[in-house]
Amino acid sequence: MTAPSAKKKAAPAAPKAKTPAAAKPHRAKPKVAVWKFASCDGCQLSLLACEDELLDVVGEIEIAYFLEATTAKIDGPYDISLVEGSITTEHDLHRLRKIRQESKMLITIGACATSGGIQALKNFAKVDDYIRAVYDHPEFIDTLPTSTPIKDHVPVDFELRGCPINKAELLEAISALLNKRTPNIVHTSQCIECKKKGTVCLMVAKGVPCLGPATHAGCGNLCPSTNRGCFGCFGPSEAANGPALAKQLEKLGMTKREVRDFFRSYNSNAAEFRKTSEAYD
Ligand code: SF4
Ligand code: SF4
Repeated sequence: MTAPSAKKKAAPAAPKAKTPAAAKPHRAKPKVAVWKFASCDGCQLSLLACEDELLDVVGEIEIAYFLEATTAKIDGPYDISLVEGSITTEHDLHRLRKIRQESKMLITIGACATSGGIQALKNFAKVDDYIRAVYDHPEFIDTLPTSTPIKDHVPVDFELRGCPINKAELLEAISALLNKRTPNIVHTSQCIECKKKGTVCLMVAKGVPCLGPATHAGCGNLCPSTNRGCFGCFGPSEAANGPALAKQLEKLGMTKREVRDFFRSYNSNAAEFRKTSEAYD
């Protein structure tokens, strides 16, 4: 009788090596940088004001440079550069050219970056007169005689208007460009916004001067819906007719100087507003 053959115990299987998280396919996040030139930082603050939405956006992008939010600095190249502010010094001009070289896409944000901003009022005067009036030691001031938009110096991929920009439009632009689609931003006038919102026309009903017929939509109808005429923060709309609106403002009782100054505020250097105001000089 043969002894039953002792069954060989199978050796315990070697524990499976855990797949480290890093082994998952790695998707590089697009690098986004936020730059500032001559400006008040208000448009950058609009980005920070996105609160909850910003957390979602931050999950999808890597903030490589944004001094309003972090001191971290990651070298370029960048997938998207958001540029705030206008060009008022030679030094900034050199800096801008370098940023353009390092950026796949460059979006300008706000009236300063898209038209020269309120500081472009110096374009209508002698800059030396301003410098002497403002500074004790004008010899330290090194500035260009003009304040100009970014697009005057380097190619721009997309412009977001406003003083400040509308945060919903900013998120739409970032999300659209990251997903390679055209941002869904309306290009109509403020008057269309009044119609959409059911705001009664202040000019027709109350004779209130309003730049809305020549102004780009985007603010959410802020002033007309609170009984104030539009101040033109978003600059000229695509089909703006400045001269026709200026005549209507005169009919409402504005002097020529008041009409000129009405067009000369946040977007005084935007072509249609500049041309209209210069006709009233
Ligand atoms: S556009 Fe207006 S809010 Fe934005 S940076 Fe210029 S001045 Fe400030
Ligand atoms: S209130 Fe101003 S923006 Fe609104 S419809 Fe009248 S003119 Fe246009």
